[in-house]
Amino acid sequence: MAADIRLFPCLTDNFGYLIHNPATKATASIDAPEAGPIVKALEHEGWRLTDILITHHHGDHVGGVAELKQKYGARVVGPHDKTTKIANVDHRVGQGDVVKVGGLLARVLETPGHTLDHISYVFDLEKALFAADTLFSIGCGRVFEGTYPMMWDSLLKLRALPDDFKLYCGHEYTAANVKFALTVEPENAALKARAEEVARLRAANKPTVPTLLGDEKKANVFLRADEPSVAAGVRMKGRSAAEVFGELRERKNKS
Ligand SMILES: [Zn+2]
Repeated sequence: MAADIRLFPCLTDNFGYLIHNPATKATASIDAPEAGPIVKALEHEGWRLTDILITHHHGDHVGGVAELKQKYGARVVGPHDKTTKIANVDHRVGQGDVVKVGGLLARVLETPGHTLDHISYVFDLEKALFAADTLFSIGCGRVFEGTYPMMWDSLLKLRALPDDFKLYCGHEYTAANVKFALTVEPENAALKARAEEVARLRAANKPTVPTLLGDEKKANVFLRADEPSVAAGVRMKGRSAAEVFGELRERKNKS
């Protein structure tokens, strides 16, 4: 039986996510920006929270953990604590570990750069990638703790996943990302199509995620730093992909 995935807004522009296995009734929250909307979504579905899968230590991803853990007795899974200690974590995971949520399996990829502890969860059978603040639709997270080459390597790990996997990211930033991406690749047909789709969705007050990873590979300039058209778009023809990526990120920070 397929898993059910629900997404809903939290805080200002975060996404809350629940993934539920109808066979075992297990339900995981991917991150916990704040408890209120997560409790409301659980009650709306009649689900009970069994697990919280944390991606990184930022407050807008862990703010609801303590309250949810106390209310449901949920197990909290979080990244290795080589760099940052996250409170209330029961089980720490790193690259290649597999987390069991009832009958669901989530593979852990270490994707440092935004923070050093950032991990992403891949549900292979459900073809679902929860990338939090590493990869956004048509964008990527700011590089706060890592280096540009480190973040580029993390994006390559995510880009290696199949095209038919869906990307569930941490924030609704797509409209601003599209605006920036068009300054780099104004003639990219996939990007122009995505821009129209995003404008339509936002006008209807609908979320722009999930998206297909295959579509992101065609339109997300941050996943395309090794494409000649992207290097040319930032006047860095012939430079390494990591250097082009760094320039893209710098420009986006200032945009
Ligand atoms: Zn973050």
